Amino acid sequence: MNYQIILEEIYRDIQPFAKEGKQADYIPALARVNPDQFGMCLQTIEGEQFILQQADTRFSIQSISKVLSLALCLSIEGKKLWERVGKEPSGAAFNSLIQLELENGIPRNPFINAGNIVVADVLLSRLKNPEKKFIEFIRALCDDETIDYNLEVANSEREKSYLNAAIINLLKYHNNIENEIEEVLALYFKMCSVEMSCKQLAKAFLAFADHTRKFDYAGVYLTSSRVKRINSLMQTCGFYDEAGEFSFLVGLPGKSGVGGGIVAIHPKLYSVAVWSPRLNPKGNSIMGMKALELLTTKTEESIF
Ligand code: GLU
Repeated sequence: MNYQIILEEIYRDIQPFAKEGKQADYIPALARVNPDQFGMCLQTIEGEQFILQQADTRFSIQSISKVLSLALCLSIEGKKLWERVGKEPSGAAFNSLIQLELENGIPRNPFINAGNIVVADVLLSRLKNPEKKFIEFIRALCDDETIDYNLEVANSEREKSYLNAAIINLLKYHNNIENEIEEVLALYFKMCSVEMSCKQLAKAFLAFADHTRKFDYAGVYLTSSRVKRINSLMQTCGFYDEAGEFSFLVGLPGKSGVGGGIVAIHPKLYSVAVWSPRLNPKGNSIMGMKALELLTTKTEESIF
C-alpha cells in the first residue's frame, strides 16, 4: 500500500477544516500554542514510516498519556486495578463529575480523568519513583531518551485544576485514593504534560499495533492479552463522549488528548499519530479526526 500518496491526498482534502475549532484554553500553557499546525505519521509494523508536515514537532500529549499509564499500571497491579476502575464507556465529558457521584467513586474507565487519577494513585502506592518509571517506560517504547515532561504545562494545569481537584476529592471521600491528594494530582498533571511528536507517538504505539512483540520496555512487558485489553478500551472509551462517533467514522482503536493529538492503531498493520490543536466541542482534534476517517476510507482498511 502506498500510504504516502494517500496521506498527501488526505492533507489536501482536510484543508477546508483548517480554521474550524480552537485549541484548549482551560490550561493556560495550551492556550498559547499556535493553533494552525498539523503533523501526521504512519508507522507500519514492518518498519516503514510515512509522514506529513510537522511530524517532528513535539506537543502536549495530554490524555494520550492515559493509555501509557494504564499499561504501566496493569503491569504492576494486574487485574486488581479493575476493583477500583471500571471498563465501560462513560458517554460523558472527560472531566465530568456526575457519574462519579452516582457510582460511588468508581470511575467508569481509566481513560477519563477520574479513572486515570486512580491509576496515578496506584502508581504512587506501588512505585518508589513513579515519575521516573513512567518517563523511562515511554523512552523505552520509542527508543528515544529525549522524551520528557513539560513542567510549565504541568504547573499551568495545576494552577487552574478546579475540576480535577473536585474529582479527586470525590474519589478520596469514597476511599478510592490512598495517597495525599496534592501528590496524586502532581503526578497526574505531569503524566499529561509529556511532549512527543507524531513520529515518536506512532513509534510508541507500535507496541499496541503488534500483539506479538515481546519487548522489555524498561522492565515493563506488554503481554498480548494486556495489549488486547488496552486496545479494546481505546476502541470503546478513547474519545470521551465521542467514542462511538470515532469508532463509527474511523473504525480503529485510538486515543485523543486535548493537546490536539490522536493516536490510532490498526492491529498487525500500523500505528498512526496525527496532531492539530484546533478541537471540536468534545475536545477532539477536528483535522485529526477527519484525517483518520479519510485514512480508513481511502485505504479501505479498518478493523471492521
Ligand atoms: N490534563 C487534561 C485534564 O485533566 C487532560 C484532558 C485530556 O486530554 O482529555 O483536563
